[in-house]
Amino acid sequence: MSFSSDVKNELLSVEIEKSCCLHAFCYGFLLCSRGFSYRDISILTEHRQIAEKYSNTISAACRVTPSVMKSNAGKYRVEIKSADDRAKVMSAFGYDLKSRTLRINYANILDECCKSAFLRGAFLSCGTVNDPNKRYHLEFVLPYKNLIKDLALFISEFDEFQMDFEPKIIRRNSNYVIYFKGSEAIEDILTAMGAVNSSLEFMGAKMYKDMRNNVNRKLNFESANLDKTVGASSKQIEAINKIKSTVGIAKLPEELREIAKLRYDNPDMSLRELSENLTVPISRSGVNHRLKKICDIADSIK
Ligand SMILES: [Zn+2]
Repeated sequence: MSFSSDVKNELLSVEIEKSCCLHAFCYGFLLCSRGFSYRDISILTEHRQIAEKYSNTISAACRVTPSVMKSNAGKYRVEIKSADDRAKVMSAFGYDLKSRTLRINYANILDECCKSAFLRGAFLSCGTVNDPNKRYHLEFVLPYKNLIKDLALFISEFDEFQMDFEPKIIRRNSNYVIYFKGSEAIEDILTAMGAVNSSLEFMGAKMYKDMRNNVNRKLNFESANLDKTVGASSKQIEAINKIKSTVGIAKLPEELREIAKLRYDNPDMSLRELSENLTVPISRSGVNHRLKKICDIADSIK
């Protein structure tokens, strides 16, 4: 099951206690579905639970019973067939026959408590969210320009959000899309709609991803450093070999002789380890300096 379905299942399970919130939830659900007019109130969905919720919510909030049909393609179509019943529902949300464009009618979202319910209904109808392990993306898709603008404004004015974020609107074929790409924005929206567990799951996935990136960055850094050590070490050993086979190690000054032997026997040692193994430990840069001197001496041998 996709992350988006998990989120929707969680949203479907949220209990609505107050009648004001039930009204707002039903409004969001209907307004953001494909059909919400005097001529057509319906949805088409593959999700059986969404079809049931849509039907039950209309019954509870408007005292009208829609009919549910399953198509051959496995989709559920829920619709209000009677024109009188449709008129009853439309007028319950403040729309008369003359209302042309769909806008958010704020009279249906009376209190702070109702905002969350409205957004939840809207998301069930027209929202999706990607698996956070793949990419951060949450969107609302609607065919109506004014309605999508209203919805973007509604979301941007949510009080509970930790940070301000500007919702982006783009056109996609015959639709308008509000989308969010920031992980904080998506977490906030999930929480605001009541998908608390999904929000936690989202945060967990993000933390894991960030941690893995950090570890990879660190490993890459360390292996780059190790490569440097190995490269330098083999050059030093080559120099020591040259000295051995020509003038001899014994010709080197005392302080270079010890480090030359140590390096020769321990090609893998870091500067720090070499320093710690000297009779009289010196700084890393001191070790580096002595090794460089050995290389210079080898270079000067013709
Ligand atoms: Zn309420």
